[in-house]
Amino acid sequence: METVQDIVIVGAGISGLTTSLGLHRLGIRSLVLESSDRLRITGFAFTTWNNAWRVLDAIGIGESLRRQHDLTPSILVASTFLVQPASEISFNGHEVRCLQRRSLLEALANELPRDTIRFSSKVVSIEESGFFKRLHLADGTVLKTKVLIGCDGVNSVVAKWLGLEKPVFTGRSAIRGHTKFEGGHGFGPKFRQFVGKGVRSGFLPCNDENVYWFLTWTPSTKEEELEDDPVKLKQFVLNKLEDTPDDMKSVVERTELDSIASNQIRYRRPWEVLWGNISKGNVCVSGDALHPMTPDLGQGACSALEDGVVLAKCLAEALSKPGGEEINKGQEHKRIEMGLKTFAEKRRWRSFDLITTAYMVGFIQQNSGMIMNFLRDKFLSKFLPGMLLRKADFDCSALVSSKSSSCFRQSKILTRMTQDVEMKEQPAPSNSVPASSPSTLHHLKEIASLIETGAYDREARRILRAIRLTMALRRKLKASVLSSFLSFTLAPGSEALTRLSSYLPKEDEHEMEVDTATSAVQPLAKHSLPELEIYCYLLVLIFLIDQKKYDEAKACSSASIARLKNLNRRTLDVLAARLYFYYSLCYELTGNLAEIRSNLLALHRIATLRHDELGQETLLNLLLRNYLHYNLYDQAEKLRSKAPRFEAHSNQQFCRYLFYLGKIRTIQLEYTDAKECLLQAARKAPVAALGFRVQCNKWAIIVRLLLGEIPERTVFMQKGMEKALRPYFELTNAVRIGDLELFRSVAEKFSSTFSSDRTNNLIVRLRHNVIRTGLRNISISYSRISLADVAKKLRLDSVADAESIVAKAIRDGAIDATLDHSNECMLSKETGDIYSTTEPQMAFNSRIAFCLNMHNEAVRALRFPPNSHKEKESAEKRRERQQQEQELAKHIAEEDDDEF
Ligand SMILES: Cc1cc2nc3c(=O)[nH]c(=O)nc-3n(C[C@H](O)[C@H](O)[C@H](O)COP(=O)(O)OP(=O)(O)OC[C@H]3O[C@@H](n4cnc5c(N)ncnc54)[C@H](O)[C@@H]3O)c2cc1C
Repeated sequence: METVQDIVIVGAGISGLTTSLGLHRLGIRSLVLESSDRLRITGFAFTTWNNAWRVLDAIGIGESLRRQHDLTPSILVASTFLVQPASEISFNGHEVRCLQRRSLLEALANELPRDTIRFSSKVVSIEESGFFKRLHLADGTVLKTKVLIGCDGVNSVVAKWLGLEKPVFTGRSAIRGHTKFEGGHGFGPKFRQFVGKGVRSGFLPCNDENVYWFLTWTPSTKEEELEDDPVKLKQFVLNKLEDTPDDMKSVVERTELDSIASNQIRYRRPWEVLWGNISKGNVCVSGDALHPMTPDLGQGACSALEDGVVLAKCLAEALSKPGGEEINKGQEHKRIEMGLKTFAEKRRWRSFDLITTAYMVGFIQQNSGMIMNFLRDKFLSKFLPGMLLRKADFDCSALVSSKSSSCFRQSKILTRMTQDVEMKEQPAPSNSVPASSPSTLHHLKEIASLIETGAYDREARRILRAIRLTMALRRKLKASVLSSFLSFTLAPGSEALTRLSSYLPKEDEHEMEVDTATSAVQPLAKHSLPELEIYCYLLVLIFLIDQKKYDEAKACSSASIARLKNLNRRTLDVLAARLYFYYSLCYELTGNLAEIRSNLLALHRIATLRHDELGQETLLNLLLRNYLHYNLYDQAEKLRSKAPRFEAHSNQQFCRYLFYLGKIRTIQLEYTDAKECLLQAARKAPVAALGFRVQCNKWAIIVRLLLGEIPERTVFMQKGMEKALRPYFELTNAVRIGDLELFRSVAEKFSSTFSSDRTNNLIVRLRHNVIRTGLRNISISYSRISLADVAKKLRLDSVADAESIVAKAIRDGAIDATLDHSNECMLSKETGDIYSTTEPQMAFNSRIAFCLNMHNEAVRALRFPPNSHKEKESAEKRRERQQQEQELAKHIAEEDDDEF
């Protein structure tokens, strides 16, 4: 009987399983057909570079594999041709590890839903069947599929169907082996490579116990028969390694016979990947089926991993249904075809580049000619590792596609829900929490699982949500709960666990007793995602600040910042931004803000280089705060003007930025700009951020007074602000009536408030405004008044003072009057009839224009979109749309309420 599948992947090798897992992460199911009866681990191990680890992180298995494989710090290249010391090239800053095939394939397979891989299913032929492809398996089964992906290695059936030629034999062969040293090999983690006399060999420790080795050479016709006899293979390798050190030879000697394998090295002619069919209709190839290459760059499997992620993204985008619209089979087929074409275009040049470079490198390294050997050993050996690293520095970016399809969003949510449920099923840690607070620990675990999902799916939104949930729990945190959570989350014996536990106070006896009583529960599987580690730092830091243990908080924050500097993951940005904030806060609380300024500047530089926009904005604000704290307004302005443009990635950071900018502009006498910034900051700040809004309002009131405006009474009557704004209300009153004496007494009465608000300097500036207001009142009330009376009314010290103040007010246009110097008096001009001018008409005009504009915009907003009457929204679509709208509204509301 024929079964119908959406996506069939042929081959459960590296590229097949990566593609399937990539699709699974995007909520799309696939079926993987594998000819063997289990996962095939031929090849034992292989070198992985930065590009591979990016992919492994993107599909969420990077961390577990890192734990099993050591980092390779450098490569030692020695020549067996020239007598000269081996040259060592460091991999500093690059992630190079020797990855065991078994671990990788098992990690990939374990993450896939059950029944995704069907073993003993060898595809023997492919047939067209309308919009489908019909697959015939060796056991007689027939399958129909909408999409067919060939990940079936060098001898690909699918590539053959696409018309690609059989990969050609390079004339070289490879023998690979794997040796296990119970109790450790003791060679250290370096990669040792020996080249010369037509042979290239390498020894790569995967971890303390496992060493992978290989040898490539150009066989004679007689040697080609070696392939199937492991005894002869081993002896042959030992003969070829005669010029290599004894300890390397001993690795081969200790290799079990079933851990040695040989194969011919084949590659696809590079122009074939440029001109040939990588995809046709709903069929494409990936991995070795697409770009078999010589192993000299160590990029075959790494690029197969790249293929998997790129293909998953292209297919997900092709299968997406924007707006949830229904499409017919023909349209779907077209989209699939376009998706696979996009994949082919994205991978064509990369494949060409890798095949060509690998071939050239192999040619140089394995050449037995005297001149080439000399050139290689003298010059090229220094240049080649650099090239390997450059080729490996390829980023096929995160898995999550921007146009994540609505059709599988549902299944994505389902996947996550199952993940969440799985997390809940995990047992509690052994040294569990006291009975009084099980819910706090439970919540923290849920938050940890949210962070985990966010990290795997690269969704910063989830991590943000986790932080918000943490803030809600903040008051309930206890040392015992925290230490249980740390041992639940962090790997036992890890540096982070030891360090963080040392900051927590020891539980009192009572709590310890309860702990022991509940300790019968099984220990948990450990996670050590960097996101979780940083989250633990954040949690402990918040706890220490809340407990007013500032010295420990400072030590904890400094340690967390040092750790953060070594981690470059975009999913960490949200957590990092919070850490920066608390780092600065605990130094501010202990009065040592100046100490961390240079560190903040360095962090800002790092965040800029890493394109961590949220980090940049947070750090810029912290630096501005730092400068303003010490009244370094000039330096603050210099930094602000030179820093990258503030793009407002977070509303809170934007409000803070506007506030600091408003303060700077006020000091620089740019009151109009300052007013704009401060009012905007107060308006944009969430309702919950009362303290911040009060501060913004205080500064805004002063700036408006300095501009000659009198703030309305409602400003001072805002809910929850009446008391805090009282001094400013009285001050405004004094300025409004122009009473210098009253002004002086208010300034004195509230001097402590003004100095703690850091507004007393501005209040000194206001004196001038009070005098002007008083003078304006006098000029309206008197047509002629002596300067002595003016001085008396304004409580000025002398007549000369009054004369100069009046003269300046006249010149600035503040009052319409003249000075009679001989009689020492001020003559006010008659106030003309304003209604005889066009001023009221102009004011009226501008109001009418404003109202008309508002009316037109409202009418435009009410119009229905074109053709909307034709498209009747189905109930399902409406439900989905409403759900999305609700989610969005909830998200916005949550963001607004977030702690400020
Ligand atoms: C000597 C040597 C050293 C290497 N070193 C490195 C290195 O250091 N770093 C690196 O990145 N790469 C290295 N490679 C390359 C790497 O091994 C391959 O590029 C990689 O394994 C390709 O993965 P794949 O999934 O495309 O193919 P494969 O791993 O070959 O998987 C193909 C799968 O498809 C199955 N299959 C085949 N035909 C069918 C069919 N008709 N029906 C169903 N199933 C089928 C097979 O059983 C197999 O499981 C090296 C290769 C060699 C030869």
